[in-house]
Amino acid sequence: MTWISRVRNALAYVTTRSTESPDNLWHKCKGCGTMVFLKELEANQHVCTHCDHHDRIGPAKRFEYLFDADSYTVLPSPKVAEDPLKFRDQKPYPARLKAARAATGEQDAFLNASGTIHGRRAVIGVQDFAFMGGSMGQAVGEAFIAGVEAAIADRAPYIVFTASGGARMQEGILSLMQMPRTTVAIEMLHDAGLPYIVVLTDPTSGGVMAAYAMLGDVQIAEPRATLAFTGRRVIENTIREKLPDDFQTSEYYLEHGLIDMVTHRKDLRDKLGQLIGLLCEAKQAA
Ligand SMILES: [Zn+2]
Repeated sequence: MTWISRVRNALAYVTTRSTESPDNLWHKCKGCGTMVFLKELEANQHVCTHCDHHDRIGPAKRFEYLFDADSYTVLPSPKVAEDPLKFRDQKPYPARLKAARAATGEQDAFLNASGTIHGRRAVIGVQDFAFMGGSMGQAVGEAFIAGVEAAIADRAPYIVFTASGGARMQEGILSLMQMPRTTVAIEMLHDAGLPYIVVLTDPTSGGVMAAYAMLGDVQIAEPRATLAFTGRRVIENTIREKLPDDFQTSEYYLEHGLIDMVTHRKDLRDKLGQLIGLLCEAKQAA
């Protein structure tokens, strides 16, 4: 072994170890592959300081970045019947739930909090991709409805951050039933004269995309998020055509008029505060 390959191997060892170690100080960016200092990444709301890649984040971080400091409380998650179909794939469904709960510290893939943004009341619901791919089952549907009810009680808008692979297959038809249920909940919000705002984050797809993810009065997306109903390969194989490179991205959706704006994570708090002011105060004045 030459000296250069020894140095190269040693460096490779250090680099691999630092990405695998749970208490590491560095984070390898999924966008550009650069090693970013974790503290620096956290200070930048988990957006890469080199390439602007928006990392996936869960409810706790969202609430912290969006609400006024110390203004919010996390709302309790409604209880639902677990494993109604006694479903089993390679593992029983309860074992998957248990593992996801241990990994995230959450009960299921959706969490609400109520508080203020720039002094204006808001209820925010966040879907967590880290919990079984953010899949929509009964617990997600119930939490969404609870969020709407909290918003109505608070006379506040409901803001939802989506991140999901779609319906939760372990709950079969019961998960698909959450599509009309959440749609009716949004109508309840509208009947109360309150706005529903959606922020699409990476990735949002399947049944969620076909339901509450696209029903916002205002549709926002984070930059370069993958947004889809059906995956790119399935469409390409069906229509036998090559799709554009930016197909199913936030920017493509904006260009084709499906969403209203693409907003950088660092600007979301100000943008949402401004929107609540415009939508709610204009309503009160009318
Ligand atoms: Zn990067």
